[in-house]
Amino acid sequence: MTTVNVAGVEVDTRHWIGGRRVAGSGTFEDVSPLDGQVIAQVSRGGPAEVDAAVAAAKAAFPAWAGMPAAERAAVLHRVADGVEARLEDLAQVETRDNGSLLRSHRRGVMPRVAMNLRFFADHLLALEHPDFETRGHRNHVTWDPAGVTAIVTPWNAPLMLATWRIGPALAAGNTVVAKPPEWAPLTASLFADITHEAGLPPGVFNVVQGLGTEAGAPLVAHRDVRRICFTGSVPTSVRIGEAAARNVTPVSFELGGKSPLLVFEDADLDLAVDLAVEQFDNSGQVCLAAVRMLVQDSIYDEFRARFLDRAAQVRQGDSREESTDIGPLVGRAHFERVDGFVKRAIAEGARVILGGEPNHDLNTATGGFYYRPTVFEGVDHTMEITCQEVFGPVLTLQRFGTEAEGVAMANDTDYGLAATIVTGDRERAERVSSQVRAGTVWVNCFFVRDLSAPFGGSGRSGIGREGGTWSFDFYCDVKNSVFAPKGWN
Ligand code: NAD
Repeated sequence: MTTVNVAGVEVDTRHWIGGRRVAGSGTFEDVSPLDGQVIAQVSRGGPAEVDAAVAAAKAAFPAWAGMPAAERAAVLHRVADGVEARLEDLAQVETRDNGSLLRSHRRGVMPRVAMNLRFFADHLLALEHPDFETRGHRNHVTWDPAGVTAIVTPWNAPLMLATWRIGPALAAGNTVVAKPPEWAPLTASLFADITHEAGLPPGVFNVVQGLGTEAGAPLVAHRDVRRICFTGSVPTSVRIGEAAARNVTPVSFELGGKSPLLVFEDADLDLAVDLAVEQFDNSGQVCLAAVRMLVQDSIYDEFRARFLDRAAQVRQGDSREESTDIGPLVGRAHFERVDGFVKRAIAEGARVILGGEPNHDLNTATGGFYYRPTVFEGVDHTMEITCQEVFGPVLTLQRFGTEAEGVAMANDTDYGLAATIVTGDRERAERVSSQVRAGTVWVNCFFVRDLSAPFGGSGRSGIGREGGTWSFDFYCDVKNSVFAPKGWN
């Protein structure tokens, strides 16, 4: 079978290489976290499919890179039109595939997919660096396309995270081989159809499906790959970094986090509680989630009571229902991983003050992988639960005394993806945001992300920044041409 019907949508389960469907030899099972059902047998790529896809991308590169940027932008806008036209299909399939909320896909995630394409297509056209002189010589800076770009992505927001890289890569004139996540591969296939219908030339965009070790590893090790974009976990980034180093291939890594939510005594407590409860969104499977709640002594008890009251009301259920707040974890292996973290935290002496176990009722009723929103108290910085990324609906609650202590606790992590600060004091906001180590700091807000802003992680949360011009600094070979004042006929 080369196509499956998922949530009423026909999805091709084969790779997309050089503008055509390729089955390859084996398949892997794709399981829906909503009910544990196998929803597709998906083509399982390896070195042969990777070689074919990289060769197709390499062959397509000169013509695509040589096309005027405005023409490339027009094609990308047509792809974005196609995404918008099939928004409901994409939303339905993604929800079935990774278990995230249907309403988020409809209202936030899939519109953002289209925006990822439109924004970078337009941004490239506006890129310029003024010429400047050196002893009468004219320096002229250009952003030249780099070549074949490998894009390896995770499952928690698969199409949005992929197109955040695909948009600028294609706009720059690069060609792409994407390796979607094996736990949620299906919207990448729909996206391939959309690119084809929009007139993207064959070979400019390719998809090789498969497992990380089988399809991802040969892709990032390929000598003809000129850029590697990876979004995922730190351990995988180490392996990819080793492969990239052998070919001296530049990497852009967006990795995990253990971000703090710093609540000061001058904070608006309603806002602080809202922001804290928001960290359970997508069942905590959000890299940016502020999972370490650090609350100042004098308001700790009141915050704790109000937060627990609200957190207990989070409605867990079928991700397709409008009234559901959070759905399941992505699959059995991840569910067991999260449960392992919780069990070890309890064994280490952490106190469960909410949840602390799977949602047995829902799992029995549906066959899915639901985990109750969980909060730990009585933790310290030496415990695994405050140091390692869980990537589930699991938060920790700690108190601090002075501002300096709060900042020190916020920075007491290997990660540095984001930090959220809640305070009513503007000066404190400025001071603390300058002192926390994070790629993104939100003050009295969360998840406000402009595509023109730099995005990336400090510490072990990543390498590099993307967004706006920063994206093109990565996807392009930035060139300076120096023209002598003399020598013209
Ligand atoms: P993961 O590292 O296990 O896998 C990510 C991707 O890498 C998958 O497509 C996988 O198949 C592939 N892969 C695995 N081994 C590989 C190898 N040896 N070579 C090449 N590719 C390989 O991560 P995950 O569990 O899918 O995703 C969760 C992680 O992603 C979390 O750590 C989360 O914080 C992070 N994440 C970060 C951001 C960000 O923007 N910083 C966004 C979303 C998720």
